[in-house]
Amino acid sequence: MSILKVARIAHPVLRSPARAVPKAAFRDRLFQKLIDDMRETMYEYDGVGLAAPQVHEGLRLAVIEVPASDERARAEVPFMVLANPKVTPLGDERENGWEGCLSVPDLRGVVPRWKRLKLDALDREGKPYTLEAQDFFARVVQHECDHLDGNVYLDRMQGMRTLTFLEEFEDHVRQEKESAGDD
Ligand SMILES: [Zn+2]
Repeated sequence: MSILKVARIAHPVLRSPARAVPKAAFRDRLFQKLIDDMRETMYEYDGVGLAAPQVHEGLRLAVIEVPASDERARAEVPFMVLANPKVTPLGDERENGWEGCLSVPDLRGVVPRWKRLKLDALDREGKPYTLEAQDFFARVVQHECDHLDGNVYLDRMQGMRTLTFLEEFEDHVRQEKESAGDD
């Protein structure tokens, strides 16, 4: 397995709509290796998700894994592959939360997202599955699926006033949150 180079914003691959994963790809050894490499790359950079355009592959493909140790998560999400995913919001409730992105290094910002959604996608064998996600899991799904349409979380922010460097986040924002008893 290899650690892949992560594209950063301004690279055109992050701003172009990705193409659907063709049926034949699921039997392709190189496609399976791409998934393994994306998994490895996500672990290397402590991400909870990674989309193919972030590693210079314009494919509708993403991986997600949220460890139980992640303080933002209320529940662990085991490693999963999302090929040709489709997101349908459930209800009209939205929630604000902090997001960062390996393609926008060292920054975080508050982004409104659907609280609950239905995800239809294919797994790494090309088998269709459907699941419901909520809270942080739903947020990660929306973040990764945005990448497949050439969007990044900055586009979804309601303004830039919460945009924060990670170091300042640790020094200022987290402390405020802790003293406010917020999660
Ligand atoms: Zn991202």
